[in-house]
Amino acid sequence: MTGKENNFQTEREVFSEHIQKAGLRHTAQRDLILDIFLQTDEHLSSEDLYWLVHKQDSSVGHTTVYRTLKLLTDAGLAREVRFGDGKTYYEHHYNQEHHDHMICTECGRVVEFFSPEIEALQDSVAAEYGFKLTHHSMRILGLCEDCQKKDAETSASGAQPRIRVKSVVVT
Ligand SMILES: [Zn+2]
Ligand SMILES: [Zn+2]
Ligand SMILES: [Zn+2]
Repeated sequence: MTGKENNFQTEREVFSEHIQKAGLRHTAQRDLILDIFLQTDEHLSSEDLYWLVHKQDSSVGHTTVYRTLKLLTDAGLAREVRFGDGKTYYEHHYNQEHHDHMICTECGRVVEFFSPEIEALQDSVAAEYGFKLTHHSMRILGLCEDCQKKDAETSASGAQPRIRVKSVVVT
């Protein structure tokens, strides 16, 4: 636990510096939102984070959470990710290894993966097209192992797969 506290210290300093540069004030609400964000290990929508914050301080509004997430993104602490369900999710970005995502279209499970082969191939494809690659977001959609088993048990309904990313908030 003490190790984790230490880790957050750098993140707090990064955030503090960013807030000063942006000409904003330090507020207890922003600090709480940062702390709760850092303690999560998931891909969170602004709404998800709002509910987690709400449990600790019900006076924090949706807009404050949303704006703070934008600040965290600008500060390089958070990164926006999209999984195809029309929502924006946020994950840790500071000192994080690059990874891509597989999303289960049935249960919304998100699996993070890293493939050096795919990364290298993307670089060479970009070079082939004279394209200067700045960043990328690779999404693989499909069915996770559990849902494949469930699918085999129950006959297919014929409904179109709809992406619903699983909420981390249990209400
Ligand atoms: Zn990648
Ligand atoms: Zn699934
Ligand atoms: Zn991720």
